[in-house]
Amino acid sequence: MDKLAFTPKNCWDVYNSKKDEAEIQKLSARYLDFLTRCKTERETVDYLTERLTAAGFDVGGFKYGKGFKSLQGKALFAARRGSLGPSAGLHLILAHTDTPRLDLKQRPLQEQSGVAQAKTHYYGGIRKYQWFARPLALHGVVIKDDGTSVKVTLGEKPGEPVFAISDLLPHLAAKQMDQPLRSAFEAEKMNLIIGHRPEADKTAAKKTAAGKNDNADSGTGKQDKIKSNILRLLNEKYGIREEDLYSAELQAVPAGPALEVGLDGSMLGGFGQDDRINVFLALEAMLSNLADKSATPHTQCLVFLDKEEIGSEGSTGAKSRFFEYCVQDLIEAWEPKARFSEVMLKSRALSADVHAATDPDWQDLHEKLNAALVGYGPCFCKFTGSRGKYEANDAHPEYVAWLRGVMNKAGIPWQMAELGKVDSGGGGTVAMYFANYGINIIDCGPPVLSMHSPFELTSKADLYATWLAFRAFLNAK
Ligand code: MN
Ligand code: MN
Repeated sequence: MDKLAFTPKNCWDVYNSKKDEAEIQKLSARYLDFLTRCKTERETVDYLTERLTAAGFDVGGFKYGKGFKSLQGKALFAARRGSLGPSAGLHLILAHTDTPRLDLKQRPLQEQSGVAQAKTHYYGGIRKYQWFARPLALHGVVIKDDGTSVKVTLGEKPGEPVFAISDLLPHLAAKQMDQPLRSAFEAEKMNLIIGHRPEADKTAAKKTAAGKNDNADSGTGKQDKIKSNILRLLNEKYGIREEDLYSAELQAVPAGPALEVGLDGSMLGGFGQDDRINVFLALEAMLSNLADKSATPHTQCLVFLDKEEIGSEGSTGAKSRFFEYCVQDLIEAWEPKARFSEVMLKSRALSADVHAATDPDWQDLHEKLNAALVGYGPCFCKFTGSRGKYEANDAHPEYVAWLRGVMNKAGIPWQMAELGKVDSGGGGTVAMYFANYGINIIDCGPPVLSMHSPFELTSKADLYATWLAFRAFLNAK
């Protein structure tokens, strides 16, 4: 019976050699650095561009054996030609570059009660209460009307001031305490405190000296001197005016570096691991394959998309034609006689997205036979969706079987999981949009604790196992 039963393996037991240990620590250190540096889509695509270019990928597309294209600095498609040509099918890994956070409104600046604030509009599925009373940084771009792009990163360098949203003191929270969580935290009260000191006013100083009471700004906001001071500082630092913020994309994100977690340093904590852990691992998988000079059979593609967290809309999201355009270019460059439909129907893909790990304190929301555990390797998720698999890509059993074969042959621990108990919630990924092409696709990625929070947790062992899993998938026959 024991031989016939399936038991998921703990990655720490499987990867217990000195060599594995060294690899785990090396990969984790590189990942923490990536996570610390890349907190927006654009920063992620910049990082990818840098690494791909350094590895010899052509920035202009697919004229040579390996190249990439990006769109709006938020989506990127990279490919490495296989020995069989595109008509044998592509091996694709898809991951998303966006992360739930707070976006600044287009007209963000206001002054009230002695502080200047930036108003926000949250992006994606956040738990609002997690964003109050914690250090936040500002990342993004401001595009001026002459087309100049100004990159903004504030609150990350040691010694640099951060930002924060104030939270209600418990002494005055009596009414709020009785409200349901859904309505207790108002989005319009999620205003980022960005300053407090009024602009120095020489005329006011004179008036005060003459004994007149200059108290026009005591909470009335009539003179907005604090806001004026902020505008002056922004102008000094970035050469921008208030109107420039209309064409800006600024995001408030948790300030500070990604960190090791636990006395044993076995876990990784940081913002945006959904889904940058998969962006990073897909890239690492493809680049580490390059050491092997013999071409792998299938053309390997990485597809990095934006807007997954808000429904995959927009020109850089999974519902856009960007992917199609790139594949058309690739076919034209590498096998012009191949038909697009033929390539799609033979392709295999991993929708590389994180999976909910069983939360030790909320075990009752998971169905344990079909729940993921941290440390047990990449999770395959045959279907996502909710309420009776509604809006799910349900991967075909033939494909699941093929993948099992690939993982087992490479000795990689893996687990099969679904998101929580039936009818307790759910969620979607980009898988269904790519299934529309006839591509064989399944969701696959490491388990995460505190998903969508400012400090998500993953296991170093899962990081390593998922990297090996992506490599094995890209190289498979
Ligand atoms: Mn995701
Ligand atoms: Mn997500």
